[in-house]
Amino acid sequence: MKVSCSVVVFALVFHFFLVTGSRSPPPSDSVIIIGAGMSGIMAAKTLEEAGYKDYIILEADSRIGGRVHKGQVDGNTVEMGANWLFSGGPKSSPAHEIAKKIKLRTLYSDYGNLSSNIYKQGGGLYEKHVVESAFKVADARQEFGTNLSKILSSKKGGDDDISILGSQRLFKQVPKGPLDLAVDYFYNDFEEAEPTRISSLKNTFPRQLMEDFGEDSYFVADPRGFETVVHYIANQFLSHNNNKITDPRLQLKKTVRKINQSKNKVIITTEDGSVYHANYVIVTVSVGVLQSDLIGFVPRLPHLENELPGENMIFVTVTDEESRRIEQQSEKKTKAEIMQQPFGRIYFAGEHTNSTYLGYVDGAYFSGTFRSPSDSLYPLLGRAT
Ligand SMILES: Cc1cc2nc3c(=O)[nH]c(=O)nc-3n(C[C@H](O)[C@H](O)[C@H](O)COP(=O)(O)OP(=O)(O)OC[C@H]3O[C@@H](n4cnc5c(N)ncnc54)[C@H](O)[C@@H]3O)c2cc1C
Repeated sequence: MKVSCSVVVFALVFHFFLVTGSRSPPPSDSVIIIGAGMSGIMAAKTLEEAGYKDYIILEADSRIGGRVHKGQVDGNTVEMGANWLFSGGPKSSPAHEIAKKIKLRTLYSDYGNLSSNIYKQGGGLYEKHVVESAFKVADARQEFGTNLSKILSSKKGGDDDISILGSQRLFKQVPKGPLDLAVDYFYNDFEEAEPTRISSLKNTFPRQLMEDFGEDSYFVADPRGFETVVHYIANQFLSHNNNKITDPRLQLKKTVRKINQSKNKVIITTEDGSVYHANYVIVTVSVGVLQSDLIGFVPRLPHLENELPGENMIFVTVTDEESRRIEQQSEKKTKAEIMQQPFGRIYFAGEHTNSTYLGYVDGAYFSGTFRSPSDSLYPLLGRAT
């Protein structure tokens, strides 16, 4: 299951890296990475590989991994965050590749038998053929939604989007009744972790992650936990001892509360009163954290000020020449510019910044490499690295 975010997508624009990535001797810019989830660890690895040694990672929790984490129930490991890896497509999922390398135990989730396993509210199973008919309708509904999404995306200059529920209404077959709703839950809410009335059609279909990496889902069932995948990456460049990261550049239990940006530097203050100075900061906290105002940005980020509460919208005012320039270009281009806008010395990474694999571990992975083909800076990155 993925948790998707109907959010403003920030592009990761490592301008400083792009410009100086292949320079020798090693770059002297200092960088602070906020968050040690998959994206933060990957961002650090990318910097390390580009010759940046002067970085630190500030993580609020007492562990790395973020939303990839395990818990214990009666002595058994239970995944509290990400559970599934994906396989069977034309491309390889980096998370799954690592899982195979470290021999993480996984179980194939076989959804093939669902039609024999749906229970009626009053007890007893639905007849198989009845459920199969409901699945056929759900398939057709999804195909309609996927085609509609493609049409909306291909509209020149257009930026129209609707909810998945909206597309179901257009299809004139909105799920009704317990069986249809159960099937629809499996098709949509379960995967998006959101009801269809608020899931964006365009950001959901086609499901790019499944198209690329495959629909075969493997449930992680290993006492070491899914988080071992993140540890495997971290151990490649952070010093460690007996599987414990000892590298002083990783600082745990450091909750960032303030990011103060001036012309030449960034000053970060954590909850315990520590103050850090750097040339750049990469913020990898989730959109939920960004929206909570836990972290105070000085000056405030313009897009956050103008985000309409509860809506998937950013309100931006442009004036004078900028407004004329924007008027003359397509909405698509304007949107792309907004998404890539760096905020001075503050850069963003995290699953929510990767529009291709938004909401998945692989999205977080790619956001930290900024090599995703969906990133419009991809050609530049290819040149710099
Ligand atoms: C219940 C659940 C199930 C999921 N299932 C799947 C799945 O099956 N397959 C899949 O691919 N994906 C799944 N996902 C999504 C996946 O877990 C995430 O997309 C991915 O882990 C996000 O990584 P990230 O680095 O972008 O963010 P995070 O993992 O959230 O990392 C951000 C880090 O920032 C830290 N932080 C936050 N605020 C501060 C602060 N103020 N100061 C310092 N540090 C801070 C956090 O502690 C965290 O460690 C699931 C997610 C959830 C919640």
